[in-house]
Amino acid sequence: MEFAKERAELVARLKSHGISEKVLRAILNVPRHLFVPPVHMSSAYLDIPLNIGYGQTISAPHMVAIMCNLLDLQEGHKVLEVGAGSGYNAAVIAEIIGNTGKVYSTERIPELVRYSKNNLKAAGYSNVEVFHSDGSIGLPEYAPYDRICVTASAPSIPEPLVHQLKAGGKMVIPLGQMFQSLYLVIKEEDGTVTSKEWGGVVFVPLIGKYGFHFETKPYKHK
Ligand code: SAM
Repeated sequence: MEFAKERAELVARLKSHGISEKVLRAILNVPRHLFVPPVHMSSAYLDIPLNIGYGQTISAPHMVAIMCNLLDLQEGHKVLEVGAGSGYNAAVIAEIIGNTGKVYSTERIPELVRYSKNNLKAAGYSNVEVFHSDGSIGLPEYAPYDRICVTASAPSIPEPLVHQLKAGGKMVIPLGQMFQSLYLVIKEEDGTVTSKEWGGVVFVPLIGKYGFHFETKPYKHK
């Protein structure tokens, strides 16, 4: 396994966040160095977000682990991810849900759609499909989903995402602009929706119909 020592050290550090064995195993197995630009390869197993170009980042491993933990992912789940970015978070979800499950991931920046698709292919994940679309409206053609993972911060919980969540389903979503907090949203079997605040986070904005309406300043990674 490439970067075996660095991966093991990362997983050992993540244990302090109370992450389940299942999620830790997935973090250990996913080759994060294949999801970052070559210039950041030697930093791939540091627990930090890294630039992936176009003003976007690959989230820090502890954040990915915390979101997967909150989602309580199970083998065979159908999962919607909003914000494919590098494809890393989708790969971690794909590891957990296995080949009987599937990740539908949306990304608004066309270059990152190509980037995430290439990274996922290079890393060997065939149970993830990436779509070029505004994920703030979800992906109604494949709904309903067992789980929804939103990886960009929204002004409020997008109604279409709640609608596309199965009864008994769970969603994690960061909310806010200057001050952001991560929320776990649960749709009970009777359709009642509850949300619980997990705590402060830092994400790029969700931009779209049910997100923010401003543009981020694009830049290309050198
Ligand atoms: N999950 C990503 C990873 O593992 O690399 C993290 C990506 S980054 C924190 C959030 C991503 O959300 C960015 O790539 C951004 O372009 C994307 N994004 C923002 N608004 C979006 C929208 N409405 N629909 C789809 N993607 C969006």
